[in-house]
Amino acid sequence: MIGIDFGAVRRQVPLSGFLQSLGLELRPQGDTYRCRCPLHDEQHGASIIVYPDDHWYCHGKCARGGDVIDFARALWGLSDIRTTVEKLLAGPVPTLTSSQPARAQTTQRKWPARNFDRIREIVACGLDSNYLQKASPVQFDPGKNHTEETIDIIFPGDPLLCCGLSEFKFRTRYREDWRGSLSKQQFIVPNPMFENVGLTQAGKWSEHAQSATARRVYLVIEFDFSEFKRDGVTLTEWAPLVHEWHSAGISVADVCSALHLHLAEWLPLVMVVSSGGKSLHGWYYVFNRSESQGFPIMRHAYSLGADHVTWNRAQFCRMPDGTRANGKRQPVVYLDPGKAVKNA
Ligand SMILES: [Zn+2]
Repeated sequence: MIGIDFGAVRRQVPLSGFLQSLGLELRPQGDTYRCRCPLHDEQHGASIIVYPDDHWYCHGKCARGGDVIDFARALWGLSDIRTTVEKLLAGPVPTLTSSQPARAQTTQRKWPARNFDRIREIVACGLDSNYLQKASPVQFDPGKNHTEETIDIIFPGDPLLCCGLSEFKFRTRYREDWRGSLSKQQFIVPNPMFENVGLTQAGKWSEHAQSATARRVYLVIEFDFSEFKRDGVTLTEWAPLVHEWHSAGISVADVCSALHLHLAEWLPLVMVVSSGGKSLHGWYYVFNRSESQGFPIMRHAYSLGADHVTWNRAQFCRMPDGTRANGKRQPVVYLDPGKAVKNA
């Protein structure tokens, strides 16, 4: 693999342009495109989804995905990556035709402005962290660890899971191979993987790659209402609100609880995990929704203070009842097994 700049190949041969050069019609759907899948010789459907990061996934017979190189390799039946890349680069440089919306318009994700007044309103309803804990259908004994039973609930069966001790130390293994060691992990990708390794956006093979992450089962929403930026000195846009809440005796966990209970009116709330710090991360079931149905809700969450990074379905999230780098537990404060995915 040495000597191939995969990122450069992907920039030179954009996936959407390559698909069009094959005569496939790309139909915009939200921030994605759909087209029929030539890999399984699909005639009428549109099993392939092209995501804004220029990766594809066939939700039909193939049940696989990847980048433009993976697609070309499968299409041409080539086993060798170098040969595939050479053939890709030798072809005419595909460009999107003018009848299609400009790619730039869809890849430049527009996040809405923060809606401070709406956040104040929702928090003022008074549904606090105490309320959220009491509303949880499962009441865990706080003296015991519950990682394994929680994972059994949210990922039934034996799916491939990508978990990590840190952002640099991670593995992708079957759930049963993880059994017994999950509570030590800090992170988990909130969606199953469909392959052990995939190409990262930097063009490296990795056990933590979006190209090897299956379609979204859970959308995790995190709120980070810090008063200061990472330098510990510069105030964030949230500082005035955090001060307001502080003087009213409202904690950041209370604020997160109110916002998750608000979002639960839009999406089924399966779980809330404490970061081991101040914030609470909500896991929402979205398997039955398309990306374009989910995205407006993510935008809404962003306007209420959510971090947009978790829209990346491969983004590491806090392991339920896992262990933070500083040794703190990340307890599960809310769990509703009835809303989790069934028999993944
Ligand atoms: Zn297919």
